[in-house]
Amino acid sequence: MSVQHGATHAGDLRLETDVLVIGSGAAGAVVACELAEAGQRVVVVEEGPHFTPQQYGVMRPSESLRKLWVDAGLAFAIGLGDTPMINVMMGRCIGGSSVLTGGVCFRIPGSVLHQWSTELGLTELTEAKLEAAHESVERALHVEEVPTSLRSRSSQKFVQGAERLGVPMKPIVRNTKGCNGCGRCNFGCPHGAKLSVDVTYLERALAAGAEIWSDCRVDRLSFRGARVTGAEGRLLDAERRQPRGRLRVQAKRVVVAAGAYGSPLLLQRSGVGRRSGQVGRNMTVHPAFRVMARFKEPLRGWEGALQSVYSDAFEADGVTLTGLFVPPGVLAATMPGIGPSHLRRAESIPHLAIFGGMIHDEGNGAVTRGLFGPQMTYRMSAKDRHSATVLMRRMAEIFFAAGAEEVFLPVLGLGGIHADRLPSLALERVPGRQLECGSQHPLGTCKMGVNPNGSVVDPNGKAWDTEELYVVDGSTLPTSLGVNPQLSIMTMATRSAWKLRELPLRG
Ligand SMILES: Cc1cc2nc3c(=O)[nH]c(=O)nc-3n(C[C@H](O)[C@H](O)[C@H](O)COP(=O)(O)OP(=O)(O)OC[C@H]3O[C@@H](n4cnc5c(N)ncnc54)[C@H](O)[C@@H]3O)c2cc1C
Ligand code: SF4
Repeated sequence: MSVQHGATHAGDLRLETDVLVIGSGAAGAVVACELAEAGQRVVVVEEGPHFTPQQYGVMRPSESLRKLWVDAGLAFAIGLGDTPMINVMMGRCIGGSSVLTGGVCFRIPGSVLHQWSTELGLTELTEAKLEAAHESVERALHVEEVPTSLRSRSSQKFVQGAERLGVPMKPIVRNTKGCNGCGRCNFGCPHGAKLSVDVTYLERALAAGAEIWSDCRVDRLSFRGARVTGAEGRLLDAERRQPRGRLRVQAKRVVVAAGAYGSPLLLQRSGVGRRSGQVGRNMTVHPAFRVMARFKEPLRGWEGALQSVYSDAFEADGVTLTGLFVPPGVLAATMPGIGPSHLRRAESIPHLAIFGGMIHDEGNGAVTRGLFGPQMTYRMSAKDRHSATVLMRRMAEIFFAAGAEEVFLPVLGLGGIHADRLPSLALERVPGRQLECGSQHPLGTCKMGVNPNGSVVDPNGKAWDTEELYVVDGSTLPTSLGVNPQLSIMTMATRSAWKLRELPLRG
């Protein structure tokens, strides 16, 4: 069996199953696979289209953005108060955001689990109790350390600067096998070397008998009394993503895995979790900033693994630094100027090094069904705003220590700065709106907790006010993590799936 396409299905689509999984991303894929392999009948429905690595591997970045990303990569959270506008990036395809990752894998940090299990009362979420689930995901994804030989010269420069300043850097581990360092990870690996869930868990789910449908958007859940009985939605056409036939799935159990953006919207539309008042709230995003530096010699920073080293040396300030690069064509499009002045800037691309940093935020974001459609808002706390200042200053210092001639901070209108200007730059006084900020990690909008009044799902992921309805994805994480979240989300999904396979299915 292979993935079936709602875009080409004639007429309406009606299905009946034991477990319906809504969303085929990092978490949905794990749940589908674990339950199908346990012998349950599983149907997965995914709003986005299906492309194989051979297909997405030859797309131009602009085509990939249009076809695989939510809102063509232009979704944003409106900044409230002293907060930047945040470009929130998410995948919408078979495999979800997993297809677009840089492959970086981190376990749920011990300090975060300590907070969850002691302060938040989630006593099952300890390092020891999650060890088997962590291991299971790492094995399935072939998590391995990025060899030094794959380090781009951009990252090498940053490491040099960090060493000179005594800032420890560590190798990153990624879910790869046979990576050749072509640097295209964020647009889908053309070589099948990044083991995203479309080429791992979903293939296993199919082999175990699961039915997986692309181009199927769920609009609302169906209920009999407090018990969920399935979901309804529309089949979407391939090009314009407009509704075609109707979709109706009847299921004994429903797992919502539509991600931190899609899941709260679906719950809100279906009237789930009203009592808590928490659906769509508590969104954290790991606000991320990139700092660029121009070196005298060419570096061709796009050659090599996008992400190969990181530093947690500034965790006390809520900052994690991770390597990255942006394809030259995309980078050129983000540069200011027109005609010859733009060309001059674009010509410097081979000389640029780039590094990224993210904030372990306590932010206060929300996903709501606004007047003109879904919207995200985010208010950055004073502590997180301070972290952004630390992040920019430390990264600029590291690049200058590595010999950069000019550093470009993510401050709109600032332009390049030289080393002598950095000490006098009042970065803490730059208005939030002037900061260029992105996020690839929205989390927490259907928060897990021990109290039905303060959370959307219980410690097993079950929606408090319904029967047989579970939410299993990044939306349930109780706090932000401070590190890239895919492995953490998949570990939590494994734990939930293992609990669900023991829970008898009622007729
Ligand atoms: C560009 C990019 C790079 C990243 N790099 C990394 C990295 O290197 N390391 C890392 O750890 N993390 C990374 N992440 C983050 C990571 O991919 C996500 O945190 C993770 O995939 C989230 O898993 P999820 O299951 O919650 O949601 P997703 O993987 O986003 O899956 C949700 C799926 O649900 C579908 N859906 C939504 N609504 C509906 C609906 N109503 N009906 C049907 N389907 C629906 C969506 O289309 C989507 O496919 C990156 C993310 C992006 C976008
Ligand atoms: S760098 Fe490696 S994992 Fe990334 S796209 Fe290229 S081959 Fe795939």
